[in-house]
Amino acid sequence: MLRIDNLHVSVGKKEILKGLNLKVNKDEIHVIMGPNGAGKSTICNAIMNNPDYTKTSGSCLFNGEDISTLTTDEIAKKGIFFLMQNPVEIPGVTNAEMLRLALSERNEKLSIFEFNKALNSTCEDLNIDKSFIHHNINERMSGGEKKKNELLQLYMLNPELILLDELDSGLDVDALETLATSLLEYKKVSKCSILIITHHTNILKYITPSKVHILVDGKIVEEGDASLAEKIETYGFKGAYKSDMSDENA
Ligand code: ADP
Ligand code: MG
Repeated sequence: MLRIDNLHVSVGKKEILKGLNLKVNKDEIHVIMGPNGAGKSTICNAIMNNPDYTKTSGSCLFNGEDISTLTTDEIAKKGIFFLMQNPVEIPGVTNAEMLRLALSERNEKLSIFEFNKALNSTCEDLNIDKSFIHHNINERMSGGEKKKNELLQLYMLNPELILLDELDSGLDVDALETLATSLLEYKKVSKCSILIITHHTNILKYITPSKVHILVDGKIVEEGDASLAEKIETYGFKGAYKSDMSDENA
């Protein structure tokens, strides 16, 4: 599904990712945790090929295909959905307009009747107010409403891989639980993969990962199962990746 080998990424002259390796299989949930400034958001930007981020070496494959030189919209059309930490507002374009165009670009020819029916029933399934349908994308929405709006887009676009960058930012506990539950329901049906990027463990109360990676200074320094996240919660990042830590505290 997603395979990143020895990826080096720079912004301007500064190297941020220094040899990242990551393999996410179908139907798996991976978590990348790390302190502020470790390069977590850079991973998402590099996967989506944001032009501000230059890949200086290494490769990024999605379903066996090298996506490292594709444009962001081409990558999205392959089936990767990036739920940003702060979703952008796009005045002048409604959700319905964007989604209909996105689906037709992917050659999914839905009649206007079928499209409206799908959009309305998705709102009902997700308990989202139908006024969202003709709302300009994220315009003047609260943090929680923006994330709900992105969830509506995600359900309509049916991605194979979801990148979640700090999902919990701007969300209260109840909103986070609702969002996490909806994502897990989507995963159950679609068998998609999810890459969760986070600097704390809040979201892991609701979602159990297949694998946890700790990123420090652009490199993965430790990998493990869900128990590694618990270690971070208890000892902090520095403690969690010192291999002698568990013995010291045994
Ligand atoms: P994290 O998400 O782990 O907090 P980021 O990936 O956002 O870290 O950033 C890692 C480092 O790269 C930081 O020092 C940050 O200032 C720098 N950086 C990231 N994106 C940019 C950018 N677009 N322009 C300049 N510096 C950036
Ligand atoms: Mg970040």
